[in-house]
Order: sequence, then C-alpha cells, then structure tokens
Amino acid sequence: MKNIIFIAPPAAGKGTISDYLVKNYHYEHISTGDLLRDEIASGSEFGQKLDIILKSGSLVDDETVIQLVRQKITTLAHQAFILDGFPRTLKQAKALDQLLDELHIGNNVAIYLNVDLDTALKRVMARVICPKCKRSYNLNNEKLKPVHKDICDDCGEVLIHRSDDNEETFRVRYDSFMNNTKPILDFYQDKGILCEIDATMPLEEIYEQLEDEAEIRVKGGCSND
Ligand code: AMP
Repeated sequence: MKNIIFIAPPAAGKGTISDYLVKNYHYEHISTGDLLRDEIASGSEFGQKLDIILKSGSLVDDETVIQLVRQKITTLAHQAFILDGFPRTLKQAKALDQLLDELHIGNNVAIYLNVDLDTALKRVMARVICPKCKRSYNLNNEKLKPVHKDICDDCGEVLIHRSDDNEETFRVRYDSFMNNTKPILDFYQDKGILCEIDATMPLEEIYEQLEDEAEIRVKGGCSND
C-alpha cells in the first residue's frame, strides 16, 4: 500500500476520499488545512495570524507548513499516510522529497485529482465539515449528506461551514492552485510517480482507480506512467 500525496484544487474531494481510505484501509490522514484550523481554534496568537491568511484564501508560508508536516511524518510508525493539501508549492514538494529520502520512505504515489472550476465551486458552496472529527459532507449529494441535518454521523458534533468556503475566497484559492500548485505536477511526473484521476467521476469509480494506483488492491500500479 503506497503513501498518497494528493495534488488537487479546492473541493476536488480530497477530504471525502481521505475519509474513505482511513475508514477502510487505516491510512494516517495528514491534512495541513486541518492542522492549521486546529491552531486557529486553539485561540493562540499564532492562530489569530493564521486565521487572517486562511480567510483571505492565500497560502501560509512554506516554512510553517513544512515544519508541521515534518513533525507529523517523523512520528508515524510504519503506517501508510495520506498527505492532503501538502505540498502546495514547488519549495514544499522539494522539502517533502528530502524528508522522505531522509526517512527512507520510498513507496509513494502523487495523485492529481482533476476537477473543473464550476464543479469545485458548487461543491465548496454545499460543503459542511465536522470541527471535531474533521469529516466533510456535501449537502447537495445524497451520498455525502449527514443522516441528521447539521449533525456529524460519526461523532454527533454540530457541523459548520468553513470560513473560507465562500465564492470570493474560493476563487483566490483556485487561482493559487493554478499558479503555485499545478506546476508541481511536472515535478512528480519527472519522478515517475504521478497519476491523474478525474474527480468528477462517481465516487465508487474514483475509489476503484485510487485503490489500483496506490496498490491497495494490487492490479498493476499507475496507468499514467
Ligand atoms: P485546505 O483545508 O487544504 O483547503 O486548506 C485551507 C487553507 O489552509 C488554504 O487555503 C491555505 O490558506 C492553508 N494551507 C493549507 N495547506 C497549505 C500548504 N501546504 N501551504 C500553504 N498554505 C496551506
């Protein structure tokens, strides 16, 4: 089972797909967005600075997120992990590469979840999340709605809208993906570990392709090599 590095624009489905992989295959889920939101929720002075950045849709500085990810990955004991929302810049991708080399972690696949702007925007506007267990829901999708309105199916917490899930901030985040993050695809293509998945397909098909690409159900690995 390979470690998964998701490269995707906002609302491509990283959170939903990660939930599926954690529940079914016990992946460790490392979401830099969740880690940053936890820091904001703690009310710390640093959290207050982060809050302003996240609300604007801009990127947090590379050093901060690289440090967060380094701390997380170094504490993992041989557990396969998902990186959700990291790397988002070439500098982060190179730092990650160095870290994985240092730790002799070589079994990785970069998954590009490709979704068009309109579909992503519709998803963002319908997204609610659980602030406690971080599960993500989509109110426009029967399969991704909570059973009881506004309540998390898993932990019973009241669901919330993310403060950056509005059209204005979404457009900043989408532009940031196109300008800062999309160029990383070449980096992973050159390393020969990039696979692309059409994130507008039905979820079952996405899961199936992902299970093949990450060699969770061994079928031959990456079809885009
Ligand atoms: P996400 O939950 O992945 O959509 O991330 C929410 C926000 O957190 C982003 O819009 C950024 O402001 C910040 N963020 C998350 N991951 C990173 C990262 N790898 N680099 C810089 N900023 C990040």
